[in-house]
Amino acid sequence: MEHLRRYGVHEIGLCEELLCKIKENLPLGAIVKKVNIRIGKLSGVNKEAFRFAFSSLIQNTELHSAILNILDIPVNVYCRNCYKDVEIEPPIFICPYCMSRDLEIITGKELDLLSIDIEEE
Ligand SMILES: [Zn+2]
Repeated sequence: MEHLRRYGVHEIGLCEELLCKIKENLPLGAIVKKVNIRIGKLSGVNKEAFRFAFSSLIQNTELHSAILNILDIPVNVYCRNCYKDVEIEPPIFICPYCMSRDLEIITGKELDLLSIDIEEE
């Protein structure tokens, strides 16, 4: 586990939380095929580290055969200057219409479990 801890402590914690949530809701005898989550570009989560944490943490558990499917959530902001909703590409936080920096983040901070695909025995 040492190399894993160095790789992404933040992601391990988040992944453990996610796996707990899944296990709590898992019907008895169900085999998890796929775990669908969404990660926003501004969530601060390193996707590769999260994938690595996931594949390490599910070993020898009832989730060992699960595949992690990550949906990327882009950064959408609301410009308080020109009142437009627009997608931006971090780390550039400037409205492409009016060049204002007065932006409100609408999406991009997510880290959510969307669904799991299971196969019941
Ligand atoms: Zn604007």
